[in-house]
Amino acid sequence: MTPDSLSAPISIDAGFDSGNIEVLSIEGTSARLAIRRDHQSEFFQWFHFRVSGGAGRTLELKITGLASAAYPDGWVGYRACVSEDRDTWYRAETRYDAAEGGGTMTIRYTPQAATCSFAYFAPYSMERHHDLVAEAAASEGVAHRVLGRSLDGQPIDCLSLGEGEKQVWLIARQHPGESMAEWWMEGALDMLTDPADPHARKLRQLCRFHIVPNCNPDGSRRGHLRTNAAGVNLNREWLEPSAERSPEVLAIRNAMDETGVHFAMDVHGDEAIPAVFFAGFEGIPGWTEAQGEAYRRYRTILERRTPDFQTKRGYPVARPGKANLSMATNQIAQRFGAVSMTLEMPFKDNDDLPDPAQGWSPERSKLLARECLASLLEWLA
Ligand SMILES: [Zn+2]
Repeated sequence: MTPDSLSAPISIDAGFDSGNIEVLSIEGTSARLAIRRDHQSEFFQWFHFRVSGGAGRTLELKITGLASAAYPDGWVGYRACVSEDRDTWYRAETRYDAAEGGGTMTIRYTPQAATCSFAYFAPYSMERHHDLVAEAAASEGVAHRVLGRSLDGQPIDCLSLGEGEKQVWLIARQHPGESMAEWWMEGALDMLTDPADPHARKLRQLCRFHIVPNCNPDGSRRGHLRTNAAGVNLNREWLEPSAERSPEVLAIRNAMDETGVHFAMDVHGDEAIPAVFFAGFEGIPGWTEAQGEAYRRYRTILERRTPDFQTKRGYPVARPGKANLSMATNQIAQRFGAVSMTLEMPFKDNDDLPDPAQGWSPERSKLLARECLASLLEWLA
């Protein structure tokens, strides 16, 4: 190391898959940054960038203007994700000050390597998505089809497997910044395509699975938090999806109309609540006590099976008749009489079972998927 490299300013880049940061200024190892809004939208919260030239020196990265992010409560108690090999992600020392610079998150970190990456959550790239789809599609008994295309022309991939009668739909990443949802999908597909897994073997006898690991490839690649290429929140399009605004949802809903749906899970991440929870379909016009009871029974099974799931914290429940039918879970429950639910995993940590090194992580998302599927088998039995 030369004296030059000890004083040279760091470099910051985000011109890659799911990259998102604007560099306001760099001075030595300190930088002032801001998050770019989703294209044609007000939403922002997802960030993903690389810092180079900081090995052995302490970085001080200030991301400013965060009080006007989509979920300002998401910054309180949150710690940024960091990786030096882009494989294992840890949490960095992070402080949020709502009064500084329109809401500023300060990340301090001393990398050992020449480059290190920071992100809102461990990214799940579109290249990894295609690896996941290819590996699953090459597995015994798995069918792959393209349900439709996004506005940027990317395929909406669907994997189907199982010989049973129960039509089970698993969809993820309507909100592209919620990358834990596709880590969950990787866990689900690993399990379901494993010829030795006893739960998977039984589930494949009982069910026909339809799995859409990424509903919003455009938002994913563009580094969006919540919307597609046109700035549309896909999870508000399920009542009247259109080819112009939301071809992704239109394609998936049409495919569901062909198969019918008995059970559906829509996988998400939540910015503010440090816990794993469900949002159900209370308040749909067609609500029946039997349908509600079946949902609660599934929730109880999952809560018993894994300490990473709980039922105390979550969103307020809609009053009778007040459900928003433009959301996937409500539309699917209403349209098909299905038991459907939105799974929310934290960006922060699960406070009931904290992991100081990693917080909520890809590894835990994948393990949760296995418990969700094992619970489905128990629920069907
Ligand atoms: Zn979401």
